[in-house]
Amino acid sequence: MKMCVDCQKEVAGKKAVKVREDKTIRVLRKIKRLFRVAKGNELYVCEDCMKEHLEKRKSFEKTMLIFSVIAALIIVLLLVTIIFSGRFEIWTVLSAIFIGIFLFLFSMIFKYVPGVESVIPVPVTKKPEAKRKKKRGGK
Ligand SMILES: [Zn+2]
Repeated sequence: MKMCVDCQKEVAGKKAVKVREDKTIRVLRKIKRLFRVAKGNELYVCEDCMKEHLEKRKSFEKTMLIFSVIAALIIVLLLVTIIFSGRFEIWTVLSAIFIGIFLFLFSMIFKYVPGVESVIPVPVTKKPEAKRKKKRGGK
């Protein structure tokens, strides 16, 4: 199904833009498949959600920027602590990294706002795109 990522409604017959298939989307798909929450939909943003989506995307990018700054600070703090305490405890470091990765993935799965291929909505048909070479099983 071709679906809007924001209002979760089908976009066939409406105007919409395609969600950009980036690395994150692919990784998220894999994770979702792992947790069996993948729906295998083609992702779009419909005309009605467009404006809001662009704003959400902008704030998401900001959040990620802040997140990476905080992550960098934590790593620096960790290194400083290790240097000053003079002992290196691998489990402390590993668990800190593990928690960081876990939090990151968790926030990505639930908060990720994908980019879009263009900002001009075009009519979407029900037919699957002919351009796509990869075919998945099913009907
Ligand atoms: Zn929508």
